[in-house]
Amino acid sequence: MQIRCSKCHIPIALNRDAAVDALDHIDKEKLSFYDLRCPKCRTMNRVSRKQLQRSMPKITRDPDDAS
Ligand SMILES: [Zn+2]
Repeated sequence: MQIRCSKCHIPIALNRDAAVDALDHIDKEKLSFYDLRCPKCRTMNRVSRKQLQRSMPKITRDPDDAS
C-alpha cells in the first residue's frame, strides 16, 4: 500500500511486513492510528487501523478454521 504524505505529497510505500508491525504496534498501544514518518520531510502521517487492515485482508486466521 502507499500513503501520501500530507505535507510534501510524496507517496510513502508501506509493505506488508511494515503494515503487520504497524498493526501490532497499535494493538499493543491501543491506538487507532499508526504514525508513519515521511522519509523526505519527516512529517508524521496518520494511518488508520482500517487502512492497514485493508492492505492485508487475510493476515489474521479465521478462528473457525479448524483445519
Ligand atoms: Zn513528506
